[in-house]
Amino acid sequence: MSELNRTYDPSREEEIYTRWLEKGYFHAKPNPGKTPFTIMIPPPNITDKLHVGHALNNTVQDILIRAKRMQGYEVLWLPGTDHAAISTEVQVVKAIANEGLTKESMGREAFLERVWEWQKLYGGTIINQLKKLGSSCDWDRERFTMDEGLSDAVLEAFMRLYSEGKIYRGERLVNWCVKCQTTISDAEVEHEDGEGHLYHFKYPIDGEPNTFIAFATTRPETMLGDTAIAVHPEDERYAALIGKYANVPMVNRQIPIIADSYVDPQYGTGAVKVTPAHDPNDFEIGQRHSLPIINVMNDDGTINSAGGNYNGLPREDARKKIIEEMTGLGLYIKTEKITHAKGTHDRCHVIVEPLIKLQWFLKMEELAKPALEAYTSGKLKFNKERHGKVYQHWLTIIKDWCISRQIWWGHRIPAYYCPEGHITVGKTAPGSCTTCGSNQLTQDEDTLDTWFSSALWPFSTLGWPEKTPDLEYFYPTNVLATAQEIIFFWVVRMVVMGYKFMGELPFTNVFINGTVRDENGVKMSKSLGNGIDPLDVVNKFGADVLRLTFASNSPENDSRFHWDRVEFSRNFMNKLWNATRFVLMNIDAPITLPQQSQLQTEDRWIISRINDLTKEVTEKIDAHELGMATQKIVDFIWDEFCDWYVEMVKPRLYDQKEPSETVITPDSRKAAKYTLCTVLMQALKLLHPIAPFITEDLFLAIQDKAGNPNEIEKEETIMLAKWPEYNETQADPAAEKAIEAIKEAVRTIRNIRAEKQVPQAQKISVVIQPADKAAYKIFQESKPFLGSLCGANSVEIQPAGSSNAQDTTKKSPQATDAPLESSATRDVVFAAISNANIYVPLEIDTEKERARLEKEKQKLLQELARVDGKLNNQGFMAKAPESLISEEREKREKFAAMLAKVEAELG
Ligand SMILES: [Zn+2]
Ligand SMILES: [Zn+2]
Repeated sequence: MSELNRTYDPSREEEIYTRWLEKGYFHAKPNPGKTPFTIMIPPPNITDKLHVGHALNNTVQDILIRAKRMQGYEVLWLPGTDHAAISTEVQVVKAIANEGLTKESMGREAFLERVWEWQKLYGGTIINQLKKLGSSCDWDRERFTMDEGLSDAVLEAFMRLYSEGKIYRGERLVNWCVKCQTTISDAEVEHEDGEGHLYHFKYPIDGEPNTFIAFATTRPETMLGDTAIAVHPEDERYAALIGKYANVPMVNRQIPIIADSYVDPQYGTGAVKVTPAHDPNDFEIGQRHSLPIINVMNDDGTINSAGGNYNGLPREDARKKIIEEMTGLGLYIKTEKITHAKGTHDRCHVIVEPLIKLQWFLKMEELAKPALEAYTSGKLKFNKERHGKVYQHWLTIIKDWCISRQIWWGHRIPAYYCPEGHITVGKTAPGSCTTCGSNQLTQDEDTLDTWFSSALWPFSTLGWPEKTPDLEYFYPTNVLATAQEIIFFWVVRMVVMGYKFMGELPFTNVFINGTVRDENGVKMSKSLGNGIDPLDVVNKFGADVLRLTFASNSPENDSRFHWDRVEFSRNFMNKLWNATRFVLMNIDAPITLPQQSQLQTEDRWIISRINDLTKEVTEKIDAHELGMATQKIVDFIWDEFCDWYVEMVKPRLYDQKEPSETVITPDSRKAAKYTLCTVLMQALKLLHPIAPFITEDLFLAIQDKAGNPNEIEKEETIMLAKWPEYNETQADPAAEKAIEAIKEAVRTIRNIRAEKQVPQAQKISVVIQPADKAAYKIFQESKPFLGSLCGANSVEIQPAGSSNAQDTTKKSPQATDAPLESSATRDVVFAAISNANIYVPLEIDTEKERARLEKEKQKLLQELARVDGKLNNQGFMAKAPESLISEEREKREKFAAMLAKVEAELG
């Protein structure tokens, strides 16, 4: 890279990234001389395409990673992908359907071959998209949850947990999706309030004609599986019926009337039907009373043979037919419309069916204890307390984890059955049944929940179960950056497994990033079409612009995506590019360290300011407050460096064309160039984690020309340059105070120009009367640049305490923040600032000025009349919303104040 392009060109990003890859800058290896800093990427699904959530999450990780790398840590950011059982299988099933094939017609082996082909073709898509963002992952270590090593880790974990009795197989009520034909976890069930019906029926009491027991249900089809009616033990209405039997007419089943204190006598009739196979509460009652569990439903939601005449009917049809049959028997009472919570599968939105299934479970109670303790004791920290509370909540209500899924794509459960039904477990297929010696073994058809392998991710990716040097060095990792929705699915389970298999937390800090919504605060979704494709933004504006947009929007909070923020980010890049080009044009040779005494007040000010900034930015990044960190860097570069400092030193860089009172010495010029270069290089370093590409180009370009004045050796890349450190000796409160006073004076004079409508090109003269000797010195020293900052060709600094300020005013100098006031005689404008009085003599054409003010007055009167018209209009006042009315009132106040000012000027 020799000369910088004239203009900022984000298309260079690809070339820069390729160079970083070739140089191996992202690669990490155990290094005893350095402290490790590790982040494991939340592995995106192989079915994923980069969306805004990924882009934000990876920007966060790369910012943390790049800052730590520059701070001298041995940094590992390990990437990879997740096999995503359900969504991948759905994709491939769709693909083969186009060829007229189904899973079943292909058979397990052939189908899985197709999935692997699909994975090879599309599984890497998201990885390539992550590279476009500038992610500095160690791609040499990319892993996949179904690669050989990780699959071995999954089997090893299963075997160990099974041998300890923590994994068991049992009949349990699970959430079943009849559409996806698989078990889903509690967290995948969405509870939505919806319209429903409550059906009231009665069952006849066996052997007692004309005696009935009434109850209500939202799911009449489950009546086919009723095995009891329960009442509260102290409910006197039913005391005589307890121990008797009721009859379920559709299947002609006698069921006992039992007493259980779970029943609320105040609710409905006080009697409830009990269906242990289809309701979690009923399941518990069934366990207490040893009731039979009768499953009446097939996996596809149709009624099975236990439903007698209803065999084969879809659940909706069975419901209708039962109501008809009960009505015919005179046992139907009524139907009520109600609102109730319906559980649906978050993936397909079909109503979830609680079903009894033979499944594999992991006992969680014991395993969860250290994970909960890690949070309550403060060892595991979340960036926001409320996220920690979510984590804590899940752990306190945790139930056994159903780990088997009725899906082919995934880690097949390593359990084998003989014809007798004995279970033999093995990492590889065992030769014979360990109980009876039979060699006719068949493997369990199910696979493990995808999250089982993701739970091992922080250590399986480093070589576990082997004791590798990588595992030794990089585990435990430092930060996990992820989204709120998967605190339960993933964060909880990683901590549980980390303690179980490594005896240690997998990470100490959790950074939960916010959600990016659209401009109106609506969640982005495919169906609404309000999503932003992050790659569109990258292709058009560059990854740096996208990253800065995210970072300045506080990625730790929920945010809205505004295109004008993108534009702001792009303008910032242009500003930075142009300022750097300006600096480069004024450097002709390597820069050398000046004597401290050669630094001017403005140099010491900007050095002191970037020193403060270094401290603040480092602290904010460490505290995971990325929005604040970004805001501070951007404000510094744009405002303090570009708009103030560069303007202040300009006169010291150019040869004076006309004789000036202040002579620019070569030493002063040298100090200016030194300060420009070093402050800019330091600012670029602080900005690098957020905008890696532009900072690399600019940093190397300055270094090429100026050398690296504060370092002994030149850097190959800003990526590995030393992160700036706060240096107490550079703090200069006196210089900061002095420059603040100058800035106040400049702003005040610019206000006067604006207010008096002095044309841009017109030079003015300024007289400053400092309040004391210290202020006099400050203004005297600013003379080389003060004039150019406020468009003055003459700046007179009167000696402190002199009383012959301007004979045009008698006002006594007051050290106040008094607002701009007009002078008594109209040809000198006076303003008081903290430590000086300012006088600006202006040649004002009185006639013209009067005419201008008259015109202004008429305009304001018209505006006032318009507002008053509205406020006096009864119709408007009655109909308009409160906000609109107060808006009009505010306008009225504003116009009235402006009018008063104009009238005062007119006299
Ligand atoms: Zn489903
Ligand atoms: Zn056996």
